[in-house]
Amino acid sequence: MLLFTPGPTPIPESIRQAMAMPTLHHRTKEFEGYFEFCRIKLIELIGMQDVLMLASSGSGAMEASIRTFCKKPLCINSGKFGERFVNIAKAYNMPYVEVLNDWDTSPSSNLICDILKKDNNIDSICIQMCESSGGLRHNVEDIAKSAKEINKDIVIIVDAITALGVEEIDTSNIDVLIGGSQKAFMLPPGMSIIGLSSFALDLIDRNDIGFYFNLKTELKNQRKNTTAWTSPTTIIIGLAKYFEIANIQQIYKETKLRSIATQESLKSLDLKIYPKKPALAMTTIYSEHSPKIRKVLKDKFDVNIAGGQDRLKDSIFRINHMGIIPINEALWVVNAIELTLDDLGIRKFDGIANKVFLENYYKQG
Ligand SMILES: *Cc1c(COP(=O)(O)O)cnc(C)c1O
Repeated sequence: MLLFTPGPTPIPESIRQAMAMPTLHHRTKEFEGYFEFCRIKLIELIGMQDVLMLASSGSGAMEASIRTFCKKPLCINSGKFGERFVNIAKAYNMPYVEVLNDWDTSPSSNLICDILKKDNNIDSICIQMCESSGGLRHNVEDIAKSAKEINKDIVIIVDAITALGVEEIDTSNIDVLIGGSQKAFMLPPGMSIIGLSSFALDLIDRNDIGFYFNLKTELKNQRKNTTAWTSPTTIIIGLAKYFEIANIQQIYKETKLRSIATQESLKSLDLKIYPKKPALAMTTIYSEHSPKIRKVLKDKFDVNIAGGQDRLKDSIFRINHMGIIPINEALWVVNAIELTLDDLGIRKFDGIANKVFLENYYKQG
């Protein structure tokens, strides 16, 4: 079965083998070597001042960030993950402002600025870089830049779980950048990542908050290449292998090619791209036939893609582009979708999906 869901993503053989070595204790020089290597590589990848690795799924890092950096966040909600920030604020009885959008739409920076000008108590913005519910790329760079012009001390918290390792991220106006192991890093779920600006580091120093997710305690330990609590050792060893095998610039380039070639290919089948501004991490198609298409793809062509959640449960399907994906697999997927449409009597097969994919992939490249 080809796993083409936007997380978890398939784990390459070499990473699986690295993680299969005998267990290392986390309080040893040997493990600290892996930890230090990952710290250096992550800081280089995100281009920020410092980084934390936490034993939790991505949501743990979202919760830790809200607790540490927010008193009244402005939460941008264009899907399940934006809504999660709101739910975390609610869970802590924290005042918040919610900007609720259609799942295919990112709010304009003007709208965000108007809200900030009217409410001086808003001290932070929480937003996804890619809102995975609908495959939407938010206008993060614009929003962050304009918000900082209004209030230089506003904390910009970005959930980049499906953007880290997908595209080069401009972190110049971002204070907190959240990542997760199970998406573009091609690792098992269970580790989250938080990139930190120097402003965020000052705030951590002042805000000694929480216990398990106390970022001040974590930072103190992680700067010594260890963790406050037991490290997710296996995942960190896997991450070290990722950095060994991954040519990051090449991955950015190929992900973009694959993503655009897939979009163009599916458009040639008269399928409709759902988000107004698609992220590179996944292609999201709006189709009333989504459940049937997914079923035929799985049963007949051994391809597992994702459907939607909540209100979009049966009306979209999502194809992953994160990680290192052989081009023949990406081609197989678009071809299988074309065959599926034929199978369902929606559109007659003429081989255009493969043709358009290849033309776009090699024309762009
Ligand atoms: C996958 C994902 C998460 C992570 O959620 P967990 O299940 O806690 O790992 C968060 N935000 C986005 C945008 C995601 O795609």
